Amino acid sequence: MQESIYKEFLQLAGFDQEEIATCLPEWIVAAKKLGLTAEDMHYAVREWLPKHWNLELAGIRKCIGLYIREVMEITKLHQHKQNGIKVIFGSLPALPFIFQAIKRIGGNEVFVSYPDICLVTVLGSFFHKPSVFIEKVDSCTIHAGCSHCGLVKTRLGAKMTQLIPSPDVIWSWGIACNEAPKMDELINCYLNTDWNAVFSSVPHDTYLGEVEEENEERCAYIAAQIRDGQKQIEKVTGIVVSEEQIRSSLEFVDRFMRKVHYLHDLACHADPQPLSGNELSLIGQMMTLPFNTGFAYVEEALDLTIKEVEMLIAQKKGSLPAGAPRLGCYFIPFCVPWVERMFRENGVNLSFSTFYAATRKLMKPTKYQDPYEIMAAKMLRMPGIVNIAYELDLTFEIIKELHPDAMLQGFYNFDRWMGVHHRITTKGMEEEMKIPHFYIEGNMWDDRAYRTEDLKTRVESISHFLKMNKMIS
Ligand code: SF4
Repeated sequence: MQESIYKEFLQLAGFDQEEIATCLPEWIVAAKKLGLTAEDMHYAVREWLPKHWNLELAGIRKCIGLYIREVMEITKLHQHKQNGIKVIFGSLPALPFIFQAIKRIGGNEVFVSYPDICLVTVLGSFFHKPSVFIEKVDSCTIHAGCSHCGLVKTRLGAKMTQLIPSPDVIWSWGIACNEAPKMDELINCYLNTDWNAVFSSVPHDTYLGEVEEENEERCAYIAAQIRDGQKQIEKVTGIVVSEEQIRSSLEFVDRFMRKVHYLHDLACHADPQPLSGNELSLIGQMMTLPFNTGFAYVEEALDLTIKEVEMLIAQKKGSLPAGAPRLGCYFIPFCVPWVERMFRENGVNLSFSTFYAATRKLMKPTKYQDPYEIMAAKMLRMPGIVNIAYELDLTFEIIKELHPDAMLQGFYNFDRWMGVHHRITTKGMEEEMKIPHFYIEGNMWDDRAYRTEDLKTRVESISHFLKMNKMIS
């Protein structure tokens, strides 16, 4: 056993000496359960991490570390359940408001997490091995050719391989995602297990262009869905969340979003851009997830990154020279981080994800008083959840704020909802924003269906076009 390489990995992931002394044995056990070998550690430490993440930044190392802490806990879930800890999983959008409140009240008696996304992030972004659990599913139920979502397949794979137990309850959302709730049903039917899912949904039946959060009936309906889901979770876990606690979580998430917005504002208005789009997206994702390892650590990582970015700006440092073109993206595939690197190697910043660039509008107070209606209205300000025409308006707002040279859509061709939005919105954005738009077919969770060679020409030609365009404008 080459213990030292596991230790080196933890060092790169921002663990201090004292933490390494306690966590190293646990990390070795966790890595084995995740299918990671000593060779995988070598590859991550020597090649994959330094190529894709700015490890000189303590904030980025801490962000990597918090995902590592979360998966280490995930690998101990069987034990936690045996010890009587209530296990609650989330799915997308994971409503961090409620999970945060539940965790604050339940403390060590409750475990809240979103295992699928933590596993895919860790295995893909830090080891280039996202297929560990997906392949298990490919071999028996949902074959690779069916082109289903790698994220939800990871949920099934993790359960099939016994990495995770059935949670006491999973709160599954059908508001943006039609696959996640179906996956819960499949797990129950296929594995004949006790996978207890609470399902909340809302039909996509608004008019094109409707500003959905202004629709009081719709907000009241979603608020009732959330309230009802929360009641069902209470029944299973015995953890009662008061309105007061929801309000305080709303304040926390608002503060976190303001900081994420500030970070985007800083990074995307600086030339050279000090953080890569992979890094901004990895951080942005944190505002949508329930973290069992705690939100305090998440906020610490964010604060540290902000300070370091301010320093980089003062020193005029970036991953590319000043003047490099900037390409905004619907959702940068940071679990396939070589896509961003390939653009960078061609002199283009894959700059930010619209999905995670919190808009000014998202942070403004809503017209509602009831905390559940406030949550509903906030959700309905997120592109990706609302009708296509309103999504376009929200995206225009982000483009106006972060002024990219061009936009890139794609990497969601498996997704029955957002994948369609990408194709339809591309033309609308080009017409209204008067900046070029590009589209790349691909899968943001899993790159087994495409390799660097497949994208090389496409990335080179987009980059060439953008550099020429920048020169003549
Ligand atoms: S990527 Fe699409 S299909 Fe997969 S979980 Fe997210 S919303 Fe659902």
